[in-house]
Amino acid sequence: MAKSASEPVWKRWHDERYPVRLGISACLLGAEVRFDGGHKRDRYLTDVLGENVTWVPVCPELEIGLGIPRPVIQLRGGERGDQLVMREDGRDLTASMRAYADARVAELDGLGLDGFVLKKDSPSCGMQRVRVHGAPGGMPQRSGVGHFAQALGRGMATLPLEEEGRLNDPPLRERFIEAIFSRNRWRVLAARGLSRASLVAFHEAHKMLLLAHDQGIYRKLGRIVGSFGRIADEEIHASYAALFAEAFARPATVARHVNVLEHLFGHLKTCVTPIEKREIASAIGEYRAGRVPLVVPVSLLRFLVAAHDVEYVQGQLYLEPHPRELMLRNHV
Ligand code: SF4
Repeated sequence: MAKSASEPVWKRWHDERYPVRLGISACLLGAEVRFDGGHKRDRYLTDVLGENVTWVPVCPELEIGLGIPRPVIQLRGGERGDQLVMREDGRDLTASMRAYADARVAELDGLGLDGFVLKKDSPSCGMQRVRVHGAPGGMPQRSGVGHFAQALGRGMATLPLEEEGRLNDPPLRERFIEAIFSRNRWRVLAARGLSRASLVAFHEAHKMLLLAHDQGIYRKLGRIVGSFGRIADEEIHASYAALFAEAFARPATVARHVNVLEHLFGHLKTCVTPIEKREIASAIGEYRAGRVPLVVPVSLLRFLVAAHDVEYVQGQLYLEPHPRELMLRNHV
């Protein structure tokens, strides 16, 4: 990894050959593939996130051969909606969707994805709370999972998944974007070939980011790193990747962020001036009290770390885990 202190931390780990690659329900990009020939273009995805990722659009209903326009399909039976059927004539599409979806997910896995953005409420793509219909005239239950989303869960269990609706929620958006950029860095590391030195550097650079999500997982990952050379590389790879993904599926809390901020602050205490010390302590306190967003103490710390050239802290991805243009960490 070529290092340059002036470069954003996330960029030092980025490799143009392995862009952040996300699967997406094609209608969210504006493709006119819905049952009625319409689309559900989502401006945040196309205009903001789209500037920083490469999309792999998928429309399961079109790809199993249902045309445009096509009859409405829906979930029926069981809590999650075991059957996928045509609403009007009850034609059962469950088996054909399952065969297609499992094969498509295996193909996507081979491409190397960092996450998937799914269209909410769809009996094919919806990730949760999709309507499951029962007896005619009865009220549908909001408990279903779209059949393509189910296949993603079966075939790529650690892949970060989100729906476009949930991405309007700032903490969920932040967690998803942190997860996809982190997974991408892991993919880059794995593609270049793991060595003890590269794994140690990776683990160290993610330390504060991981601590903000789950301290216990950070320690377990440390033990995996420590066993390098004593157990098979494949085992190291699989166990580190699975636990690493699990950490980013856990929400980062205000209390854990405060711990991390204070920890980082601790590395600066001997070199900052009294005024700087007061300002950063105040920014952390204001964040803890919910009066300023996380971006305030983090930006101040980032500035001080650069100004005082604190090398260890400069390498922490926590300070800038993804491009600033995504405007994250700015909610209270
Ligand atoms: S929700 Fe999924 S299946 Fe429906 S139009 Fe969009 S991409 Fe196609």
